[in-house]
Amino acid sequence: MNKPGETTLEIDLSALEHNFNYLKSRVPNGIKFLAVVKAFAYGSDMIAIAKRLEQLKADYLAVAYTKEGVSLRKAGIQIPILVLHPQPTNFELLIDNTLEPSLYSPRVLQLFLATAKAKDQEHYPVHIKFNTGLNRLGFWENDVADVVNQLTNQQSIKIKAVLSHLAASEDKNEAEFSTLQIQRFRTIAKKLSSLLGYMPIRHMLNTSGILNFPEAAFEMVRSGIGLYGYGNHPEIDAKLKPVATLKTVISQRHKIEPGESVGYNRRYKSDGYRVTATLPLGHADGIGRQYGGGNTIVWVKGKKAPIIGNVCMDMIMIDVTDIDCKEGDEVLIFGREHSAEDFANTGDTISYEVLTAISSRVKRIIKS
Ligand SMILES: *Cc1c(COP(=O)(O)O)cnc(C)c1O
Repeated sequence: MNKPGETTLEIDLSALEHNFNYLKSRVPNGIKFLAVVKAFAYGSDMIAIAKRLEQLKADYLAVAYTKEGVSLRKAGIQIPILVLHPQPTNFELLIDNTLEPSLYSPRVLQLFLATAKAKDQEHYPVHIKFNTGLNRLGFWENDVADVVNQLTNQQSIKIKAVLSHLAASEDKNEAEFSTLQIQRFRTIAKKLSSLLGYMPIRHMLNTSGILNFPEAAFEMVRSGIGLYGYGNHPEIDAKLKPVATLKTVISQRHKIEPGESVGYNRRYKSDGYRVTATLPLGHADGIGRQYGGGNTIVWVKGKKAPIIGNVCMDMIMIDVTDIDCKEGDEVLIFGREHSAEDFANTGDTISYEVLTAISSRVKRIIKS
């Protein structure tokens, strides 16, 4: 293993390819695959990831905000890009970059239509989002006729797709609710198609949806977390490969006497002779304060070293009393060998949050 010499996030594009192929194998043939690359491709490197996904023949990409889509276009990405949560203030920019908006309310639809008209667009492709139970974004089922009415007698925009999002696709205990959402979506799409005279592309499933409700793949699926190597279930995690590996290095070792403290607020108090190591990585790099206090493990020479005391902005301290290590040695935070999901769980959160928190200050190394 090469020594990083500083904090680095290794991004393994062959792992991405493996995960892409695995997820595609779980979706019936002929169904389009949308790869979600929002939030810097789940905290990794949006451009490197998007380029590989385009090579792999992903049908679509999705981002949350317009600005993210603009970055993709600037980098030369040509495939369709869905913007999941656009704001009207960016609609001109969105059209100038041939991004496709998810329109989620009468206000947003009306403003997008006005912008498309003002910019002389013809049949500009849009996705209409329906709320089927997540209660976050979307039109309601009884809005279908209004949506279609708002779009009659105009040529500026065209409904290319209709989407919804599951609230608990990873949770087997909520399978009944997910099934209800799927039924609602089916009904909405049917109503919509009968009023439009054609069936738009329907898409509903996220990663756990693909794995747990393949019967609802419709014409397209949307996957994010699975592409990055996490499947919200140990059995799926075993089939996937983490794309991002966070590594750092020991800056300094300290011998701590009994009764001494370590770090801010003296949170850690030594009960004996201990050895600590200080690492160049802190909450400004994305390792939040919830990982302090001794419950979260990092790995030195294949051995467990707990993060002790309070996490600082630019440093954490770990206990290496029983580990034969020296300054300059590599430390593994999470990734290929040690799951970001396990790391997340010790901080009461999920892989999504740990991955997307890794700040831009951390050096990215792309491995193809
Ligand atoms: C983020 C997001 C996804 C991706 O979900 P994963 O669980 O990461 O696969 C899909 N659809 C929508 C609407 C999203 O916001």
